[in-house]
Amino acid sequence: MDEASAQLILSLLHQDVQEEIESSRTGNNNSGASDHELALREWASQIQECATTTHDSHMALSIDRATYDDRVALTLAAQEESRALADRTLALRYGNQAQQAQHQPAQRLATQQTQDATRILARIDGADISSLFPARTAAALGYGAGSPSNVAAKPPLENNATAECVACFEEQPLKDMMQTPCSHRYCRACVLRLVREALADESLLPLRCCRLPIPPSTLQDHLGHRLAKQLEDKLIEREDPYRTYCSRAGCGQYLMPYQVQGYIGTCKICRQETCTLCKRPAHAGTECDDDQVEDQTVLDLAAEQGWQRCARCSHVIELGTGCNHITCRCRYEFCYVCSSTWRSCTCPIWDERRLLLRAQDVAGRDRDDPPPEQEVQQVAQNLQEDHECDHDNWRRVKGAHQCEECHDDYPHFIYECRQCRLLACARCRFNRL
Ligand SMILES: [Zn+2]
Ligand SMILES: [Zn+2]
Ligand SMILES: [Zn+2]
Ligand SMILES: [Zn+2]
Ligand SMILES: [Zn+2]
Ligand SMILES: [Zn+2]
Ligand SMILES: [Zn+2]
Ligand SMILES: [Zn+2]
Repeated sequence: MDEASAQLILSLLHQDVQEEIESSRTGNNNSGASDHELALREWASQIQECATTTHDSHMALSIDRATYDDRVALTLAAQEESRALADRTLALRYGNQAQQAQHQPAQRLATQQTQDATRILARIDGADISSLFPARTAAALGYGAGSPSNVAAKPPLENNATAECVACFEEQPLKDMMQTPCSHRYCRACVLRLVREALADESLLPLRCCRLPIPPSTLQDHLGHRLAKQLEDKLIEREDPYRTYCSRAGCGQYLMPYQVQGYIGTCKICRQETCTLCKRPAHAGTECDDDQVEDQTVLDLAAEQGWQRCARCSHVIELGTGCNHITCRCRYEFCYVCSSTWRSCTCPIWDERRLLLRAQDVAGRDRDDPPPEQEVQQVAQNLQEDHECDHDNWRRVKGAHQCEECHDDYPHFIYECRQCRLLACARCRFNRL
């Protein structure tokens, strides 16, 4: 039965009972309620409860059916609501009492809604997501019988076709490969490697190739249930604007949005409670301690080395090229000089000294003697003109090089962007930049 019909029947039943209560009251001249009336009232409240449950379960069902992509957005939307409620409650605590009394019903309703959303999401967390996978994968994962007739019906030619993997250059059966929106193909081993690396390094998230996002639905075919779930959790962590980690030293577990009530997150591993405002152990009833003393040695070192801290995720970044435009691993773009959002300040785009060093470095590539001054000036000018680069034109350079993005060494070859002259390894060129 669909929800609308169920709700209609329940509301008709409820009307009947209400009328029955009215008529029994008219017939009863005593001031107290009769047993009959009390029974009717009990029945009415049970009908109401049933209506609520029906609504909840239909809502949960429709969320279950939502795709992998939507679930990250849903979790974050529920978190946003819960956070707004916590903010309102806090504001009210410091606001005047009359206002508080006025807002109470709305507040209670909001609490109820947030609890519902949290309950449903917690349910999904433990739910079997096999229904979200295509039958073939579900069968491979051991869910359901799958459809062997479909597999047999495939033309034999397709089973023998192979293609080159863009990551490892090996020829692999086409049917085992993932094709990305940029038409590159990855073998199964390289898909798994990419996902495992991304779980440890969020600069690879959301997963992409040639700057085009790889839809989770494309990935799902190649991941097991466990890895798909881990990737989903990691995406939530990455997108979480209030991200908080367990404050117990040695634990540091990320606290999922549905583990947070008000501002307090409870670790599912060690049960430690953490304040999501100040990121320290929960401090019931008292305000956060504002003067957070940051580790002074880290700050000193950062200033000395010319490092800058990302205002969004606190990651410390070192600027390599001459441009003051920084894109953090969390994709936040900011000014290296003053750390405000990119293009929101009046700082110069270039640091002359670093630009010249960069130009000398680029002009001196693949030569033993220092480059002539004229060439350095030319490169510096090109760098300034080309600095907003989409890196869509690369050449392969043989020999041992260091990747300028991840700073790893590569013994055989590296890619060089023809426009901005950036040197990048295959991982950075395809999946990180
Ligand atoms: Zn491969
Ligand atoms: Zn690609
Ligand atoms: Zn913990
Ligand atoms: Zn606090
Ligand atoms: Zn960041
Ligand atoms: Zn600035
Ligand atoms: Zn470039
Ligand atoms: Zn790299």
